[in-house]
Amino acid sequence: MLVRVSVWVRRGLALAALASIAGFPASGLAGPLRVVTSFYPMYVHTLNVAGGVEGVTVENLTEPIAGCLHDFQLTTVHMRRLSDADVLVVNGGGMENFIGKAVAQRPKLKIVEASRGIRFLKNEAGHHHGHDHDHDHGNGDLNEHVWVSPELAIQQVWNIAKGLAAIDPERGDAYRANARAYADKLEALRKRMATELRPLSGKRVITFHEAFPYFAREFGLEVAAVVQREPGTEPSPRELARTIDLVKSSKVVAVFAEPQYPASGAQAIRRETGVEFGVLDPVVTGPEAPEKARDAYLEAMEKNLAALTRIVRTRSE
Ligand SMILES: [Zn+2]
Repeated sequence: MLVRVSVWVRRGLALAALASIAGFPASGLAGPLRVVTSFYPMYVHTLNVAGGVEGVTVENLTEPIAGCLHDFQLTTVHMRRLSDADVLVVNGGGMENFIGKAVAQRPKLKIVEASRGIRFLKNEAGHHHGHDHDHDHGNGDLNEHVWVSPELAIQQVWNIAKGLAAIDPERGDAYRANARAYADKLEALRKRMATELRPLSGKRVITFHEAFPYFAREFGLEVAAVVQREPGTEPSPRELARTIDLVKSSKVVAVFAEPQYPASGAQAIRRETGVEFGVLDPVVTGPEAPEKARDAYLEAMEKNLAALTRIVRTRSE
């Protein structure tokens, strides 16, 4: 286990080292710039910062159906996209460990790390039911899902704008102006969410993948348990039984499934306990066409807000 962790840490460091050279002097020629993003939320952020800026193309490395990149494998198609790119925008925190090797082979590729300066939370994956089993989740136990918090998403947008402006100073003003406009929209939504979700402060919820700790922290929710499982699989009967016990024995207000994962486990919990059920979207999938993808984060967060305010209303009835 230790050996595996150290490999991940090393790769993480290699990526960080590359990120640190992102600001070296650009040519100043403002030629075409090919920006590739590691996965969907970085694609959406980067489209808002650089999409439509003359001479800049933004492409997502991985398919928008891929979801989170845990256990993702690069194919030759992905390798080609990477090798054509000038800049790679990554989330950081271990999410892109799978890219480390491919990036190391391309020393000229500049990396913009969206989570730069953001303090990562540790995964608390072991906290179903109070017994703390401490398993390794392949990323050195940091939780990478920072973009799911609107507040941190705003920071990521600014990091992307600053990173691109350092690499491509000629277009720096355009990146910053776009980031400002997008950050304003995110901030308006964030404020509204904070106000409308206040009644849920301190309330306990259950989720099905550890994508929500930053979101929960921002809005004062408590994630009572994360029903752990591999993407695309159902929780085991034992896991379900334990979660049902937890819902019955503690004040859990809702169980949330994610659109990227089957909901039958969460629905089984609802049937057994009568707890509220909803869908929360960590915005790892969505439309790829730029004109649709651009607002995908805002729209998904609106839906998340609606799912949560429905719980607020049910509880106040
Ligand atoms: Zn994830």
